[in-house]
This record gives sequence, structure tokens and C-alpha cells, in this order.
Amino acid sequence: MRFDILSVFPEFFSVLDVSLVGKAQAHGVLTITTHDLRDWTDDPHRSVDDTPVGGGAGMVMRADVWGRALDDVLRSPLPSGEPSSGETVLAIPTPAGIPLTQRACEDLASSAARIVIACGRYEGIDARVVEYYAAHNVRTFEYSLGDYVLNGGEIAAVALVEAVGRLLPGVVGNPESLVEESHGAAGLLEYPVFTRPIEWRGYRVPDVLLSGNHREVARWRRYRAYERTAQRRPDMLERIDTVALTKRDKRKLAELGYLVPQGAAHPLRMDVREARLDDVAELAALAARTFPDAAPPHLTAQSVDMFIEEFLSASCIAHYIEADEWLVMVLSDRCGHLAGYSLCLIPAGDGVAGSDDGAPAAAVVGGRARRGPLIELSKFYVDRDYRGIGAAAYLFEGTRTALLRRSAQYEEPYLWLGTNHENTRARHAYRKLGFSEVGTRVFRVGDQDNSDVVYAMPLRVA
Ligand code: SAM
Repeated sequence: MRFDILSVFPEFFSVLDVSLVGKAQAHGVLTITTHDLRDWTDDPHRSVDDTPVGGGAGMVMRADVWGRALDDVLRSPLPSGEPSSGETVLAIPTPAGIPLTQRACEDLASSAARIVIACGRYEGIDARVVEYYAAHNVRTFEYSLGDYVLNGGEIAAVALVEAVGRLLPGVVGNPESLVEESHGAAGLLEYPVFTRPIEWRGYRVPDVLLSGNHREVARWRRYRAYERTAQRRPDMLERIDTVALTKRDKRKLAELGYLVPQGAAHPLRMDVREARLDDVAELAALAARTFPDAAPPHLTAQSVDMFIEEFLSASCIAHYIEADEWLVMVLSDRCGHLAGYSLCLIPAGDGVAGSDDGAPAAAVVGGRARRGPLIELSKFYVDRDYRGIGAAAYLFEGTRTALLRRSAQYEEPYLWLGTNHENTRARHAYRKLGFSEVGTRVFRVGDQDNSDVVYAMPLRVA
């Protein structure tokens, strides 16, 4: 590949003679030719700029000078003298360009035989230059290094040469090292990397990397990459492809607030927040839709409907949201679509919530008798498409955090719930969330009795 760089500071580019790009030039993998734009001026002062038409501050680079320079450079033969098999691209760095990405660099590396880079200075290059060459069958590429303004395009030219050049075969010694990088095919930032010494100033390399267990190492790296990307570039995490994700991967992403519901091509950023009155209609629909999923087979539709009418109607939900003793948390996407909810009854002081519902007031959890307030987790539901992907654990964690805020003055707040003894899916899920079985109760749905298992857990040690 050949790069031609035009600039009023051609001496700037001696940096390209060192390191891998320097070696690649020495080995003939790429050729870089720099040109002084002033060689195409026609006045004694060798001026390349003039005042902006229409007024305003600064100077603009002249189209006539750039036109002469680009005509010559674009017409000059490739070093081999052979007709090129790839395209010639006119690359123009500008803060008003599209952000330069790894995909764009990959595309240039595979499709271009020559890249001509026109480095602007002052207020930039007369806009007719790019327009003219685009209209005359030259592929143009106006790119930006980022959302900040440099004094000239030289740094951006060096960046393009290095980012595209290192993708050419033979430039980077071990091509494997290009595979797992940031902005690679997985669309993630790279995991943190370490080398010897294993112990440095009290900081130790993570043990898993010393384990020799390649699967564990790969998983550890993938999860660190998710965490880093979620923290620094959430926009990237929302674009990753979900096809190759395992169930565990999805659960890890859910912990970070990115859910992959059934059929979703990309993870969805979701929040757990307190419900608002404008959620009432959607929340009532969600509650009515999900409650029957937990009902045992012997419950009649009539009993289920009676229960929904009595406890989960829109007016009931509005009451739960407004009343101090209730806490309603929802799992919501950015558009306000709800995918799950929890409903907790908070006792006054360090009392017991839901005494009439069979609260395990004398529960012994983990060998200790309960002391702090006993909060009832009255409802906890996740919509169908969001099951088995970590959404329940994410909703639960958000609920637990909110409850801890509400009961901050108590050392040992507890949470309890009852669930139908036949509902093995829910029972398994509650055990995984940290609940222990502490008793049983009879729970009435409509005009039928249900036998429930009662669970409890300390809120602080989930
Ligand atoms: N007036 C221009 C604007 O507001 O868009 C800025 C001109 S800048 C001072 C001068 C030159 O620096 C540009 O023509 C371009 O070549 C280069 N430059 C500055 N910031 C850049 C960036 N973020 N990415 C790429 N090139 C940049």
C-alpha cells in the first residue's frame, strides 16, 4: 500500500520512520511519500491560505493550490509502476468528519491500494476541494480523530497510517495479537493485561491468570472486557452481537444492567428504579400477565382473576406506589417499557410486615434468630422473555439496595416471602438469590387455598 501525505509541514512525518511502520517501509510492505503543499504555490510568498469568503476569523486553505497538488499526486504512478488492484482514497482529516473506527481502518486496509492524505491547517480546506474530487470518481473519506480540535491534520494523518498500516499482512509480527484487541470483532474493549513480575508494589496479578486453566482464563478475560466496556463505552456494549453469547455470558451482562431477552440481537440497557404513577397502566398489565405464570395447576382461572382484581388492579398499584409502607421497584428499559417488578411491604420500625399473610416472625435464619425488621417481598415477577437471563437477579439486587436504603438504621433487616410449594422454578430461583426455607403457610387466591413454602434471608448478606 502507498500513502501520500500532503502538508505544509512535511518534516513532521519523520515519526513514521521508526517502529513497526518504519520496519514495514524498510521491508517494502508499505511506502510513505510526503509532499510539501507549498511546492504547488505560484507566488513569491508561497501562500496556501486566504481570508474566509463571507467574513469571520482565521484563514482558509485555497482550493486552487490544493487542486494542483492533488491532481499531480493522484495521477502519479504507484511505486511498482503496475496498475493498482485496489482503489485510491482521498482521506481528509477534519473535526467535522465521521469518527475514525477500526471498521473503517479494516475496510481501507482491504480495499485501498493508495491513500492520499490532505492535511489541513488554519480553518481547514476550502470545501469545494472534497466536493470536486468526490464528483470526479475519487473515493473521499473525511474522518475525525475525536471530538476535539487539533491545530492541523498531521497527527490525524499519522494515526491513519499507523491504524491502517498495522492491519496489512506482515506489519505486526504475530497476527494473532490483532484478534482479541479492543474494537475487534467482538465489539468490546480489551480486558486488562499483565506481565511479570507477578507481585509489584503490593499489587498481584489475578490468580486465575496463573491457574493454567484456559477456559477459566478466557472467561475471566471476557467478563473483565464486559465490565470495562460497560463502564467506559456503554454505547459499544449495546451494539454487541448476542448470537454467540452463552447463558452465563448473558447472566454476567445482566449483572451489569444489560439484558438479552429472547430473540434480541443486541443487549438492552435496563434500570431497576422505583415505580412512578405514570407506570401504573403498564405495571398493572405486567402484573396481570405474569401472576398466572406462578399459579399451580389446581387454581381456577376464576380464582386467579379474582386475585388480580382484588390486589393487582391499576388502582391497587397506584396505591402501592403512593403509600409509604409499600415499595414498588420496576425493571425498565430506556423507553419506559417494563419487564419485571417487585412489591415489598415495609413494617413500621423494626416490626413484622405481613403478619396476616404468614410472616415467619420467629424465623431462625443461618442459625440466628431474627432481630431486625421483617420486610415482606409480596410480589416478584419477571416477564416471560426475560427469564433465565439474569434479569431476576438484577431486579432483586436493585430491590435489595433500595430496601437497604429504606432500613439503613437497622443492623439486621430481613426479607421474607411465600411461594407455592409446587413452583419449583421459583423455589430454585429464591434459593439462588440467598433465601432459606423457614416454614410454610396457607395462602388464599380467590376462593381457593394454596400451600406455600416460606423463605427468609437477611438483607445485608445476600
Ligand atoms: N475550523 C475547523 C472546524 O471547526 O471544523 C477546524 C480546523 S482545525 C483548527 C485545522 C485542521 O486540523 C483541520 O483542517 C484538520 O485537518 C485538523 N484537525 C483538527 N482537529 C481534528 C480532528 N479532531 N480530527 C481530524 N483532524 C483534525
